[in-house]
Amino acid sequence: MRCAKIVRFPARLPMTKPADDRPRSRSAAAPQPASTSNFIRQIVEADVASGKYAARRWAGKPGPAHVHERAALDPAKIRTRFPPEPNGYLHFGHAKSICLNFSLASQYGGACHLRFDDTNPTKEEQEYVDSIREAVKWLGFSWDFEGASNEYFASDYFEFLYRFAEELVRRGDAYVDSLSAEQVRAMRGTLTQPGSNSPYRDRGVEENLVLFSEMRAGKYQDGEHVLRAKIDMASPNMNLRDPAMYRIRHAQHHRTGDAWCIYPTYDWAHGVSDALENITHSLCTLEFEDHRPLYDWFNERLAQAGLLQRPLPQQIEFARANITYVLLSKRKLIQLVEEGHVGGWDDPRMPTLVGGRRRGYTPEGFRAFAERIGVSKADSWIDYSILEECMREHLNEVTPRRMAVLDPLKLIIENYPEDREEQCETPNHPQKPDWGKRTVPFSRELWIEREDFAENPPKGYFRLYPGNKVRLRYGYVVQCTGCDKDAQGRIIAVHCSYDPETKSGTSGAEKIKVKGAIHWVSVKHAYAAEVRLYDRLFKTPHPGASDDERAWLDELNPESRKVVTAYLEPCLQEAGPQERFQFERHGYFVVDKDSREGLLKSFNRTVTLRDTWQK
Ligand code: ATP
Ligand code: MG
Repeated sequence: MRCAKIVRFPARLPMTKPADDRPRSRSAAAPQPASTSNFIRQIVEADVASGKYAARRWAGKPGPAHVHERAALDPAKIRTRFPPEPNGYLHFGHAKSICLNFSLASQYGGACHLRFDDTNPTKEEQEYVDSIREAVKWLGFSWDFEGASNEYFASDYFEFLYRFAEELVRRGDAYVDSLSAEQVRAMRGTLTQPGSNSPYRDRGVEENLVLFSEMRAGKYQDGEHVLRAKIDMASPNMNLRDPAMYRIRHAQHHRTGDAWCIYPTYDWAHGVSDALENITHSLCTLEFEDHRPLYDWFNERLAQAGLLQRPLPQQIEFARANITYVLLSKRKLIQLVEEGHVGGWDDPRMPTLVGGRRRGYTPEGFRAFAERIGVSKADSWIDYSILEECMREHLNEVTPRRMAVLDPLKLIIENYPEDREEQCETPNHPQKPDWGKRTVPFSRELWIEREDFAENPPKGYFRLYPGNKVRLRYGYVVQCTGCDKDAQGRIIAVHCSYDPETKSGTSGAEKIKVKGAIHWVSVKHAYAAEVRLYDRLFKTPHPGASDDERAWLDELNPESRKVVTAYLEPCLQEAGPQERFQFERHGYFVVDKDSREGLLKSFNRTVTLRDTWQK
């Protein structure tokens, strides 16, 4: 992992040649073809080619085998699903999973389901359900297939799951255990030692069925009993040591209310939900690899009992996305919001999709990112700069250029008449002549960036210093004649003279060769606005790497947000909601949602023009 360097704001302006506008090409992050093959695509391709799933039937809605039995063949060649738990806002890691699942489906003539995995009653909320739908749509995907919506809720399968569990009890594959949670844990054994059987393991089927129905009916307190699968207490895979299927929880559920007081575990509910929905390829992150035998165990038994249609879905694991300088864990993101370390879920520094959106990141950028990082079987860290590069590449294509001065210093052109004004023609995009030009007013007093002047220039400095000449972009060549200072010695204005023969776009423009070109905004025409300069949320590349539960909070970057009043070219006054621009030499900016009619507009910096972190 490379070491990061923190830069102070504003980040050093890039050199001043027009070529700055083009994204730098970097071999490491070179664009890839629209879809590169990977091990998941290879599996799907092979399955489609062999017709593995071609005989599946689909009743138009999820259900057990008998529901699909007499239906037509499934028109979807494959079915994948994105199964978020509605207990928080989606983050950048989810974008990887969304892009993977939805693009696989569309690429191979299939459907991708949006399934809310809402089997856990207490933490889930409608607000999150709504935001998840919105985020998936924003990324550009749809769960409709041939006119039918594939939005599902695992909680809609509670009744199926209950009846299937009863069947496993009847078949001797599940039992009600009355040990306490602690006792169950103590008897589970360790990685090197087998567990031991519960004394309740051999309860008769009838007794189990009665107890299980009483659990459902609310006769018992939380924790009094659990329903467990009867597999193998000596299995080297701990997940197979009689895992829990149902726990008693007297809790309100956001959709089923108090209809249930027993709730299925993830392992029990997930594979069954996949099978009910005719999912073919169930993609999940690597931590579920050891759960796969259990996933197959449940579904296989239910298929043997005739309850689930074959062929059964297959679970395939891939490495989760870890991105440097942010945290991708809902639990920690919730903490950042609740403890007020950020302004909310959509704070532009948050690695949530609502945060990224507000910061000006684009769906196209996220999709390119997902494609570029690909999928693999090995956990790794992805450099935040790759995400930024993907955003830049897209923003470069879609944003018009504007001039904005973020750290203003006054430039006075002494030989320019005080009452004179003129217009300078400037292209909206240097590589897109069809985007046309606009005019920017020019006058005697201009705002320039403080760092574009140096009284004593360092070596290789090509901008303004006494005696030097630079081009005011789209305007004239000026020569610096000196500066004014206040009592503290701080520079408060710079003086220059201009050469009237050198206006850009006129025949004399090339008369004088200069090395630097700087941007500017006319003082009397400038539009003052709030500009928020966002940077990385954490100052360390792997926040939370230490074991200390709260240490990661100390790793927050105190300079991740800086607010300045900037001077913008006047046409930005008309910028619409969420409109995006490139501020020349600075980066990409978006109008924030705080900007309301009649108020000072706020602009968020999405990303700088080039990577200022990795040196
Ligand atoms: P978190 O740990 O942040 O709560 P999660 O895995 O619990 O994440 P879910 O809502 O259960 O979140 O996840 C929905 C889907 O998104 C799952 O299929 C999960 O594997 C996938 N997913 C979650 N985080 C990542 C990630 N960082 N990279 C890739 N996929 C992810
Ligand atoms: Mg989860």
